[in-house]
Amino acid sequence: MHNKTLKELSALLQSKQVSSTELTRHYLDRIDASGHNAFLHVDRELSLAQAAAADARIAAGTAGALTGVPIAHKDIFVTRGWRTTAGSRMLQGYVSPFDATVVERLGAAGMVTLGKVNLDEFAMGSANENSAYGAVKNPWDATAVPGGSSGGSAAAIAARLAPAATATDTGGSIRQPAAFCGVTGIKPTYGRVSRFGMIAFASSLDQGGPIAQTAEDCALLLNDMIGFDERDSTSLTPEQGNGREDFTRDLNQPLNGLRIGVPSEYFGEGLAPDVESAVRTALEQFVKLGATLVDISLPKTALSIPTYYIIAPAEASSNLSRFDGVRYGHRASEYKDLQDMYRKTRAEGFGSEVKRRIMVGTYVLCHGYYDAYYVQAQKIRRLIADDFQAAFADKCDVIMGPVAPTVAWDLGSKSNDPVANYLADIFTLSTSLAGLPGMSIPCGFGAGEKNGKRPVGLQIIGNYFAEAKLLNIAHQYQQATDWHTRAPEGV
Ligand code: GLN
Repeated sequence: MHNKTLKELSALLQSKQVSSTELTRHYLDRIDASGHNAFLHVDRELSLAQAAAADARIAAGTAGALTGVPIAHKDIFVTRGWRTTAGSRMLQGYVSPFDATVVERLGAAGMVTLGKVNLDEFAMGSANENSAYGAVKNPWDATAVPGGSSGGSAAAIAARLAPAATATDTGGSIRQPAAFCGVTGIKPTYGRVSRFGMIAFASSLDQGGPIAQTAEDCALLLNDMIGFDERDSTSLTPEQGNGREDFTRDLNQPLNGLRIGVPSEYFGEGLAPDVESAVRTALEQFVKLGATLVDISLPKTALSIPTYYIIAPAEASSNLSRFDGVRYGHRASEYKDLQDMYRKTRAEGFGSEVKRRIMVGTYVLCHGYYDAYYVQAQKIRRLIADDFQAAFADKCDVIMGPVAPTVAWDLGSKSNDPVANYLADIFTLSTSLAGLPGMSIPCGFGAGEKNGKRPVGLQIIGNYFAEAKLLNIAHQYQQATDWHTRAPEGV
């Protein structure tokens, strides 16, 4: 049952071969028995009440494609009823009085919340080792990281603890964990998915999206996730192109004539040979499907790391000032005066990576440094976006390359080396800085099996609003290959 896709489960629900209550129980039992530390919070009663409501809807004939299908929410989306921690001690025990728009919309479509899944603290990280609630284990190899920050979301799909999960991507956090866990994820164009109720990390970059087994499942989820929200000040309007659409509409389009840009910067020094070989084999598969490969250049790629690691901390330092011991979550138990309370609360509540970013962010926003760092980074951000536009203008329709330079690394091997983590984001950051949509689909496994296989992800990047095209391309690949159907041993 749990190896079925969302699409298949939906069909079983609609034809009443299985009830949402049965399905929900099945996944909750699997979650209880699992040892990946993917889930931070489950509440059987709440989930089963939602499942009963979905069953009633199916019986009444008012169900949609997602009704009754269980989903796990990244614990950065606030949820009424379920606790929300953002992976931080700062929000231990916090319960939001409202649902994030994404949670609300998927709930309105009849999806059943299975619980909240683990992540790097405030989504800062590439390995899920920055969670205050412990690292997540990669279901393919328990000695490997699952990727981050949406490590819980990707691990939950790979271990078949949920057929669908929400995630967020600020600099790669949907694509990279999807790649490391051998599952499918898409980060939409910035502004298409509401950020309301998605705890803010770097607001000009944060974007929600789905992780699931297949591109088709992601399309079904996006149908209900995307759309204007007046409660999010950067939400794109229907006039700007953010109307509701059916993302399944182009899934079956043939790929004849598709021009795939292959950036030389994504295949240079630093790319592990096992990743390169899996990605190149995938590119050849697209040629068999009728596409042509075009050499392109994205010359500012290397600058995306310093640029992102100035802009994201700058925004984070501002966003995280709200965690002051007064408004939400944790407050130090003993203090002399107000300043002392702020200081102790934040010292106790935040982990070291979050503190590092608050310090870097505060520094680059200081009078005297602002022009040298922050303003300069904003200028380079524009040049990075221009690189992509130059490629899309006349050379290619989409861009493909690796998601990350290596497969998942060993748990603990980079946990004390922030720069090593930052460098691993090289292929995902520029898409985020440009606000473009990007996808990760499984395309093979790396060499050097020690304790298990470690998956490789192919990245597909499109121009603004090209989500339906990316999903079409990914779906065609998944019709021709079976990487996305593989599950870790014993699952
Ligand atoms: N790894 C990047 C970071 O640490 C991206 C994280 C994300 O996309 N949330 O900031």
